[in-house]
Amino acid sequence: MVKPFVYYYPLDLAEPEQGRLHASLKRLERLVAVPPVERHCSIARLPRSAEKGVLAALQETDLDIRSMRVAEAMAREIGTLATSDANTSLIPRLVVRCSRGHPLAKTCLAAYPHACWGLTSCKVLAVVYDDREVALWHEVLHLVGAEDCYELPDRGPKCSHLRRHLPCIMQYEPIEGEVGGKLQICPENAERIQRVLNQITG
Ligand SMILES: [Zn+2]
Ligand SMILES: [Zn+2]
Repeated sequence: MVKPFVYYYPLDLAEPEQGRLHASLKRLERLVAVPPVERHCSIARLPRSAEKGVLAALQETDLDIRSMRVAEAMAREIGTLATSDANTSLIPRLVVRCSRGHPLAKTCLAAYPHACWGLTSCKVLAVVYDDREVALWHEVLHLVGAEDCYELPDRGPKCSHLRRHLPCIMQYEPIEGEVGGKLQICPENAERIQRVLNQITG
């Protein structure tokens, strides 16, 4: 049994929204398991036993220091994942869902005003403050290796899909993240995700 690699935490969501969050992430898990990514990535709710340590780390207001603290807390509370390379280990990732008015969202928006829907920092912590499933998926895919397919400041297309007017979930504006049971993502990012997920050997 492979340990989950991504954990989620509903910071200030009501019950029905928590259920939707769980369902959305399970849907993403299934989409990642089929082409073009075709890798196993287990996503689970942060265990109760880890909440206290992780919530303390989230109190940090500086974004980079916060991510570092979260990484430390995740490694301490959950443990790292075994990898194929004996010299390295993978720190489990965390996605936090909160409302736009939550102080955590406000610190993200203050630091990066273009991060209208969510923000991922240091590849370990994603904060999502938008209701759309695609905004959630975009940030979670960052956690597993995907990079943005737009360039600031004009948000122009950077990947082979967007240049050919094909959909890619890593574009700036959230788009339909799935069509016909397939994740809408460019081959460049599918490969980046595969490289990260290939390291998880259980
Ligand atoms: Zn992004
Ligand atoms: Zn792309």
